[in-house]
Amino acid sequence: MTVTTLGPCRFRSPRSGFVSEEERVPANIIRGPGRDDDPGALFELAGPREMLFFDPPRVRAGIITCGGLCPGLNNVIRSLVRELHGGYEVREVIGFRMGYGGLDPRNHHEPVVLHHASVDDIHQQGGTILGTSRGPVDVAAAVDNLIRRKIDMLFCIGGDGTQRGAFALYEACKARGHALAVVGVPKTIDNDVLYVDRTFGYLTALEEARHVIDAAHNEARSVENGVAVVKVMGRHAGFIAAGATIASQDVNFTLVPEVPFRLDGEHGFLAAVIERVRERGHAVVVVAEGAGQDLFPTEPKATDASGNVKLKDIGPFLAKAIGEAFAAAKLPLTLRYFDPGYQIRSRPANCEDAVLCDMFARQAVHAAMAGKTGMVVGQLHGTFIHVPTSLIASGAKQLDTDGLFWHSVLAANQQPDRFG
Ligand code: ATP
Ligand code: MG
Repeated sequence: MTVTTLGPCRFRSPRSGFVSEEERVPANIIRGPGRDDDPGALFELAGPREMLFFDPPRVRAGIITCGGLCPGLNNVIRSLVRELHGGYEVREVIGFRMGYGGLDPRNHHEPVVLHHASVDDIHQQGGTILGTSRGPVDVAAAVDNLIRRKIDMLFCIGGDGTQRGAFALYEACKARGHALAVVGVPKTIDNDVLYVDRTFGYLTALEEARHVIDAAHNEARSVENGVAVVKVMGRHAGFIAAGATIASQDVNFTLVPEVPFRLDGEHGFLAAVIERVRERGHAVVVVAEGAGQDLFPTEPKATDASGNVKLKDIGPFLAKAIGEAFAAAKLPLTLRYFDPGYQIRSRPANCEDAVLCDMFARQAVHAAMAGKTGMVVGQLHGTFIHVPTSLIASGAKQLDTDGLFWHSVLAANQQPDRFG
C-alpha cells in the first residue's frame, strides 16, 4: 500500500526522530487458532522523513475544511499551522475559506494567511475558523487558482466527499504538470472510516451524547410512562449510538443501521417498549440517524448539495410510531424527543480528541513535506499510517454485530439480538 510520491527527496529535514521509508504497519495483527494469519495490507508508517521532496523555506501550503462540523477541526488547523511554521519554517500557510467553494475565485471567499499567532487560541472553539460548505466544486477553476497561488501542498480536512474531491484535485494537478501534495485528514464524527481506528470528534460526541441520554433518562423516569427517544449521529454506522449506550448504562433500546428491526408484531420493537414500560414505568431509546431506513418508502430519494442521499428522519418517525402503539394499547404515555445533532457537532474537542487531532495534523505535514500525495492519514493499532485515498474511499467501517462492542450494548440494555 505504497502511496504516490511526487519525486525524489533531495532536501534534508530540519526535524528529528525520523521514520524510515521502509517501515510498514500490517492491517491485521490478530493471530491464533482459527484466525487468519494473513497480515493483509501493509501500510507505510507515518512520521517525519529525513529527506524531503520540498525545500521547507520555499513551501506554500493551503488548508481547507469541508462537509459538516465535527469537534476538533480547529485543533487540526492549529497543529497543521504550528507544525508547518514551527517544525519546518515554511514560507506561507494559506487558509482557504468556506470549503471547496473557496478554491474558486468567482465565489469571492478571499483566503486568509495563517500565522503562528492567528491560530493561538482557536482550539478552544468549536466549529472551523475557515468555514465549511457542501456542494459542487469546479475542479478546473480550483486547480487554476492553486497553480496561480503557487500552492505546493493542500491539506483537506473532511469526510468521504472531501477526500474524493481531494483526489480529483490531485489528479487534475498531475494532468497539468503541477506537483501538488494533497494530503487528507479524515473527519467524521461517526467513526466509520476504514483504516482509522478512531476518528477525531468521536469521543467528544460520545461524551455529549451521554449528557443528553442522562437528561432523557431523568425526564423519562420522572413522569408517568415516560419514554425518551434520543437521535444521535451515525449515517451508516452505529458507533456513536453504541458507545454512548455503553457509557451511559441507562439506555434500554439501541437502534443502529447495521441491525434492521421490525416495529410491529409480538417480537417487534413497539411491543418491547410497551412491555418495558408496563414493567418498569419508563424507557430510554437511542436511535442512530441511519437506522431503520428500510421502514420508509424507497422513493423519492432527495440529495443534499454534495449529492449525498438525504436520510429519512427516523427520530420523529419512531416517536410517532411509539405514540400510536401506546394509544392502541390504551396505555398513557409521556414522550420526550431529543435531537442533539448540531449541539454535539459544534462542541470543541475534548481532551482525547484534542490529542488525536494534534497527531493527525503533524503526521499529515510530515507526509506532505516528503512529497506524499493522493493520500489520507490513517491510524491502526495506535500508530499512524499513510493510506491511498482511493482505498479509504472504497468503503466504510461498520459495527461488528458479532463483536464485543455490540454485545456490550445488548448486555447493558438487556435488549434482544433482533426485533421481529
Ligand atoms: P461529511 O462527513 O460532513 O459528510 P464530507 O466531506 O463527506 O463530510 P460532502 O459534502 O459530501 O462532505 O463533500 C465535501 C465536498 O467535497 C463538497 O464540496 C463536495 O462537492 C466535494 N466532493 C464530493 N465528492 C466529490 C468528487 N467526486 N469530486 C469532486 N468533489 C467532490
Ligand atoms: Mg460524507
